[in-house]
Amino acid sequence: MAARKADIVVIGGGPAGYTAAIFAAKNGAGVLLADKAKRPLMKLRISGKGRCNLTNNCTDAEFFDNIFRGSRFLRSAESRFGPQDIMEFMEELGVPLKTERGRRVFPVSDRADDVAQALIDEAQRCGVKVIKEEVKSIEVTDGRVTGVITSSGKTECGAAVLATGGRSYPATGSTGDGYRIAAELGHTVSRTYPALVPLTCAEQWCAEAEGLSLRNVRLTCRKKKKVLFSEQGEMLFTSEGISGPLVLTMSSMIAGEDIAELETRIDLKPSLDRETLDKRLLRDMQEMSNRAFKNSLGELLPKSLIPVIVRLSGIDPDKKVNGITSAERGRLLELLKNLPLTVTGTGGWNEAIVTAGGITTKEVDPRTMASKLIRGLYIAGEVLDADGATGGYNLTIAFSTGHAAGTAAAEYLKEEDRPDTEGPGDGKKKTMHAIAIDGPAGAGKSTIAKAAARELGFIYVDTGALYRAIGLSALRHGVGINDREGVSGLLASTEVDLRYVDGEQRVFLNGEDVSGEIRTEEVSMAASAVSAQPDVRAFLLELQRDLARKNNVVMDGRDIGTVVLPDAKCKIFLTASPEVRAMRRYKQLLEKGEEADYEAVLEDLKTRDYNDTHREIAPLKLADDGVEVDTSELDLEESIRAVIDTAKERLGI
Ligand code: C5P
Repeated sequence: MAARKADIVVIGGGPAGYTAAIFAAKNGAGVLLADKAKRPLMKLRISGKGRCNLTNNCTDAEFFDNIFRGSRFLRSAESRFGPQDIMEFMEELGVPLKTERGRRVFPVSDRADDVAQALIDEAQRCGVKVIKEEVKSIEVTDGRVTGVITSSGKTECGAAVLATGGRSYPATGSTGDGYRIAAELGHTVSRTYPALVPLTCAEQWCAEAEGLSLRNVRLTCRKKKKVLFSEQGEMLFTSEGISGPLVLTMSSMIAGEDIAELETRIDLKPSLDRETLDKRLLRDMQEMSNRAFKNSLGELLPKSLIPVIVRLSGIDPDKKVNGITSAERGRLLELLKNLPLTVTGTGGWNEAIVTAGGITTKEVDPRTMASKLIRGLYIAGEVLDADGATGGYNLTIAFSTGHAAGTAAAEYLKEEDRPDTEGPGDGKKKTMHAIAIDGPAGAGKSTIAKAAARELGFIYVDTGALYRAIGLSALRHGVGINDREGVSGLLASTEVDLRYVDGEQRVFLNGEDVSGEIRTEEVSMAASAVSAQPDVRAFLLELQRDLARKNNVVMDGRDIGTVVLPDAKCKIFLTASPEVRAMRRYKQLLEKGEEADYEAVLEDLKTRDYNDTHREIAPLKLADDGVEVDTSELDLEESIRAVIDTAKERLGI
């Protein structure tokens, strides 16, 4: 049987998958949507107690206030397909909407099935083909998606959208397969936790108060002195602990924390400060001086909580109120303002509305949801490490990332399909030439690449400068160069770019030209260390590819032919013996008037060679279709000639 074919395979039939499929198809792609569940959109159907709170009728600022993880990442997608666009889209599909308390948006019919059916109908109208098959893996060849393997075999495709959902409500088919598929392709998946989920507590009395809902209380959770969560609102007691809106939010805020370190308290009277509340207690006690303590709290507390508080206070329940000592009143006050709870865990995946954690957003382009590691792979929805509050925010994330992924995947295929044309201005993409030069430090890459670029009229891109800039940034911030988390944390506030001034490449770190400062031995070692870190490589990848998309380039580095530009027609591996390379560098340093020690230079060089060739990610090696040029025995002129001749032959120019 011939392999099935599609332009794009969408993996997962939830809201993110359906939205991606619809918008990819609207943009001209032939789309196949694969989902193993018997019925599509199962989780959406049970969301909002079967009413489907599909978005929140809020402003952008309010939206981001309600996102717990990934808010920076979501900005671009939300700005193009946010709550207002989602509402418009749904109404256009024939689902009238209404906004309720807390700006929650529901279908007027109160039926989640109507939302699901509208998406299914629209997908069908757009020509999306749906198959009920389990996806096993994504096939990648030369760094790009070429197929999707399902239980029945392979579907050839040019792009895939991974939208498999998280782990919450596994009965709906959401079993977290996407994490494995992404991890197999090299994506980093952070640990997942049930979120927006009830909490279990050690206190037996929670069961006594089961079903009791407290309005307008403040729930606070601290880890040591740090406040992780403190909000006023509504919560309720369950047979095993606590639940309700405040608790669900708190569960998301404590995801990943060591539960044993947490201290949780309820302020039952948040609108009264201690002094005012104490005065009120005194007044009440004077008024009810002859009553038994257990019968005196009716005004202050809901009925089912009275026996609990009486017991916890240690005050004799039958004691006359006028006999209560001020120490006893103090204990009562403390309980009302600071009722302790010992959280022991969260409810399981069956109770969790959403997943915290997942595929790290650092490896995904926020504009397009494109994987920064695999071309043609797009990732959307709950499988990403992004989540928010109850109130329609998580479905909004699914719709807006699905929209971004589907639209961009279709665009990507159009780009790929455009025929190569030479003349500019005809509206078609002009394929750029790329010469990838990899090799160890000191092989003469930059000098040779620069000379070749000048002769061919290409731009020269020195990618080592990018890694050096990150290395410099780590040194400046006092972050250990091997401290992965530290360096990774730094990236969020780091901007690196290359600009060309009088034909010379300059590298900028947060707007500052650091081209001179990155050329020290200390920065060389820092660059070598940070370049072994996956986050750093992912961070710089798109920038390099973008330069090659827009220009004819001679690009040098360590992984240009193997990872950055796997489709480059000309790949050269430039090398020389360590001794020859060390001698060249040693002479360069002397010429610059710097002190140098040949043995030390050789040692440093060997260390960097070792690091570059042995690291797990993108190690330095000759590409399968690369040409090795050894310059040990060649002088500079001869080396330049060798590279230019190879390039002309390979590129046919
Ligand atoms: O080429 P240069 O010596 O300036 O590169 C500095 C360091 O950056 C190298 O030792 C290497 O570890 C790293 N690098 C890399 N991949 C590239 C370019 C440089 O890992 N494409």
